[in-house]
Amino acid sequence: MSGSIAEDSLSDGFFSDVLEGLDIALFERICSSRFRPIGRLPLWFKSFYSPVEHQQYDLAMQSAFLENFLIDAEAYWESPSDKRSGSRLASGVWSEGGETVARPLEAFALVAARRSLLAIVDLSSNFEDQRQVYQRARELALGQEKLALELSQKQRELQAALEQRVLNQESLEVIANTVAGNASAVLICDAMGRMQVANKALVDIFHIESGASGQRRSVLERWLQEAEGAYPEIKRVVTSGSYWEGEFESQGITGEKKWIRLNIGPVLDSEGTVSHYICIANDVTDVHYGNHGQERFEDVDPVTQLPNRHSFWRKITQLIEQATTQHQQLALYYVDLDHFKRVNDSLGHHAGDFLLNTFAARIAHCVKRTDIVAHLGGDEFAVVAQVKQLGNIETIAQRLLDSFIPPVTIDSTDFRLSASIGVALFPADGLDATTLMKHADLAMFHAKELGRNQCQFFKPAIGARFLNRLNLENDLEAAIQRGQFELYYQPQICLAEETFVRLEALIRWRHPEQGFISPAIFIPLAEESELIHKIGLWVLNTACAYAQQFAGQGIKVVVAVNVSACQARRKDFIDIVEQALQDSGLPPEQLEIEITETSFLEQMDEVVTMLSKLRRMGINVSLDDFGSGFSSLTYLKSLPVDNLKLDQTFVRELPDHEESRAITASVIRLAHDLKMNVIAEGVETVEQLDYLRQQGCDYVQGYYFYRPLPGDELPPIFDQIMEAGSIV
Ligand code: C2E
Ligand code: MG
Ligand code: MG
Repeated sequence: MSGSIAEDSLSDGFFSDVLEGLDIALFERICSSRFRPIGRLPLWFKSFYSPVEHQQYDLAMQSAFLENFLIDAEAYWESPSDKRSGSRLASGVWSEGGETVARPLEAFALVAARRSLLAIVDLSSNFEDQRQVYQRARELALGQEKLALELSQKQRELQAALEQRVLNQESLEVIANTVAGNASAVLICDAMGRMQVANKALVDIFHIESGASGQRRSVLERWLQEAEGAYPEIKRVVTSGSYWEGEFESQGITGEKKWIRLNIGPVLDSEGTVSHYICIANDVTDVHYGNHGQERFEDVDPVTQLPNRHSFWRKITQLIEQATTQHQQLALYYVDLDHFKRVNDSLGHHAGDFLLNTFAARIAHCVKRTDIVAHLGGDEFAVVAQVKQLGNIETIAQRLLDSFIPPVTIDSTDFRLSASIGVALFPADGLDATTLMKHADLAMFHAKELGRNQCQFFKPAIGARFLNRLNLENDLEAAIQRGQFELYYQPQICLAEETFVRLEALIRWRHPEQGFISPAIFIPLAEESELIHKIGLWVLNTACAYAQQFAGQGIKVVVAVNVSACQARRKDFIDIVEQALQDSGLPPEQLEIEITETSFLEQMDEVVTMLSKLRRMGINVSLDDFGSGFSSLTYLKSLPVDNLKLDQTFVRELPDHEESRAITASVIRLAHDLKMNVIAEGVETVEQLDYLRQQGCDYVQGYYFYRPLPGDELPPIFDQIMEAGSIV
């Protein structure tokens, strides 16, 4: 029999009109997960999904929700008619288009005239009633939330004020006097967690013996242990010198259970090491249980509408119990947005909330209905997915990373954000929720260290490395004095002249026990403290002296030096550069400063002024890793830079990947319009080189020509070039 329902019944357009009137998207299943529309598709449908070919749709690929439903639907369509339960199979409601107007949708699988049909229905209108009920519940919850917010704001202010006093080296005795009568509990400890200051509220609320300074099991240590149940990352956050705040259930000395809202602010000395911890705490048991001693009804995060940490914790515990008895595997993804704090600070909280909301909706679309997606607080999300096939674990990770690619438009400016993701698997990486969370958090932290915008799986070595990291920080101090740093140089080839005289200086650390440690790991560590300035100074001096040594042979080497955002923001940066040029005798036009976009995120005006000054001195400025972060093309024309360094992530995908091709071509065009040169990083194949050459790229750098080399391996290469006249 030829033809299908679509052709047979639509000839007079009657059926098509009926469907349109009902606003239903109807499909006939062609083969597994391929669907052909019957009649015209509603506009809303086309705004969410696009056909793959010949007007056919691969719905499982486009929606994680449908992917899940189609597994059940498949079984329904395949089963003999007398075995099918009911006249149709319903999917339950999900929503699509979270960023603008979310539409509640429901899908139905049915069989008519022995054809397998799928209908997708827009439930917007009858959803409105339900939405209003939810809205009222949220408003109640928000009232509660407001109380909590006011308290947390007070705690933060007190914490910041005390931090300033400790930094000003006021005596702890004086500080103790000023906080003695404060209603919030105040605890100040030394770096080892020993109690130095404890006010009356602390003693009253937590029944701590007054005057027991330096007691063996410190209050801080006990809190950290109690909070770790709900916040497995707490020790990592606090010991690495970051601020922490949250609520947890504590069992005081008397055994009475209390909910505590706690802030812990490590105070860093001028070397960047923790000298004190300032903790502010309040008993929030009443806020938690309301006046009736009931479980807090509010389980939804008001910004993202996702389950909050509290409810996540309950859900994951249940899911693990179920997985244990049913021998299932789970994957926990810990998702942390990259540089979110800066966006939030610079754009304001409304825009920040909008971004969180947008990404929450995108993340929720990456997994199935039965999986868990939660907003843990701040810029952190957690996803727990049941693993049916091992390959799915990576598919979901990729989907999550991809969900961050499309820019978010705020006030007609496009913002791009990425995320770092850590994954821990049940049962392989942990048998309980706390261990899994802790391991996923460490894997996420590792992803950040490796340069962000990526996903890392937990490995025992990562846990060990975190402990090592604390040691690394100490070792880093000694590394300069002990001469453990080396400077490598990677040539940049000028495509017009087919030769090179430009080098990028890249630092290497030869650790006595751990061997070579990548700058991708230790530079971010150094950036957290003052050490980056010492390291940066050493790099600048070494690189200038190196380039200048060829002057005698008539070779004019331009050397590019990477400069961290925090270095560039220092007031005396220009003086440091001037001094390095003077000491080495290197002419300014032979020095190039490489900065990344993050340098402009704070104090943009100052950085722009500083770079303009450098350029007036004759020094070149390059914008490194262009395209990897914010890459706002709108800003580009106002930045004082000579060269754009196209990020490796695009070059890697050339020439096959269409989007990377388009981006490369337009970046080169735009840069040339703005009178900038383009340097492509990470060129590894001849195909990449050919494409870049075709597009008019000015310089290339990558393993295809040279890896970064120790300084003494370059002179022979210079000699060869001088003889041959070119290298390409
Ligand atoms: P970057 O400035 O973007 O440097 C380019 C990185 O790409 C280098 O990694 C280089 O070894 C690597 N690379 C070059 N060609 C290829 C290629 O064909 N394929 C691949 N896969 N990679 C290639 P490296 O040396 O590990 O440095 C990593 C990052 O650490 C640098 O990224 C830079 O941001 C930072 N860094 C390195 N040295 C310094 C320094 O002296 N000061 C500061 N502040 N940061 C530095
Ligand atoms: Mg660089
Ligand atoms: Mg780069």
